[in-house]
Amino acid sequence: MSYISVLGIFVADISFSGNKIPTIGETILGDSYNIGPGGKGCNQAIAISRLGGNVNFISKLGDDDYGKLAISKFKKDNIETSNIIISKEHKTGVAGILVDKNTGKNAINVIVGAPSTLKIDEIDLKVIKNSKIFLTQLEIPKEVTFNCLKIAKESGVITILNPAPASTISREFFKYIDYFTPNETEAEFYSGIKINNEKDAKHASDKLLKLGIKKIVITLGEKGLFYSDGKEEIYLKARPVKAIDTTGAGDAFNGGFAFSLFQGKKIRECLELANKVASLSTTKLGAGDGMPFYKDLS
Ligand code: ADP
Repeated sequence: MSYISVLGIFVADISFSGNKIPTIGETILGDSYNIGPGGKGCNQAIAISRLGGNVNFISKLGDDDYGKLAISKFKKDNIETSNIIISKEHKTGVAGILVDKNTGKNAINVIVGAPSTLKIDEIDLKVIKNSKIFLTQLEIPKEVTFNCLKIAKESGVITILNPAPASTISREFFKYIDYFTPNETEAEFYSGIKINNEKDAKHASDKLLKLGIKKIVITLGEKGLFYSDGKEEIYLKARPVKAIDTTGAGDAFNGGFAFSLFQGKKIRECLELANKVASLSTTKLGAGDGMPFYKDLS
């Protein structure tokens, strides 16, 4: 069966929504909280699965309550769990998230836990080699990410690196990446160009293309996205929605994008679908829990 493999982390997102994000030393009375699945890899896997894609999620959890929560969420969302490694020594990751309900903006502290100890020899590499698309981020150890991208690319798999959180990577990475999908802050980190508008995004992607990356998608939050492969350039505005929580918007985007590429759609259609999936994800509270289903798209 043909599928998308996603390598990344799960963390239990503990999110608090209120009228503002408290500043240092301040206590506020918020209005709601949620404990749900998070971690970029997990969110992206959920997004793909809810759209109807087959996903094999490669990750590592602790042998604890949050690890059990993860497995039950994956089962509920039809995510293949045979490549989830359970560590006896390390805890499942958690993230503390503070959300401003008026703007949907957030502040996040992630404790990665077990997947920070993931080793390449713990992974069944056949799972990557036999997939059609391989999607990953920068939340697990870099040598594992690098080796998996290399193995995927050398096996003819389409590779997507969502280079988040922003972190220095060697130029060697770029040989093995088909699609590079930073948000604007990350694009600034990798290109050195501050992005405020479409023109800046074009400038930044030109610089990234010169580093050897083949195709760039820069997501621009409520401003939309910019794509370039050096020949074709596409700018799409974000869809107007009432955003209440933008946590995981980039993950929804990457999941939607991978799903659409998997279906063999043209680049513009892939970007349009990803833009739609991402905008819808901002209208619900929670990262993984906020991912839309295919039926929500119509
Ligand atoms: P990240 O979550 O990684 O910071 P972005 O903030 O760039 O990523 O958002 C990713 C995508 O989510 C955007 O390209 C857009 O499609 C969608 N999006 C984000 N914020 C909004 C918003 N306020 N309204 C509509 N769409 C949004």
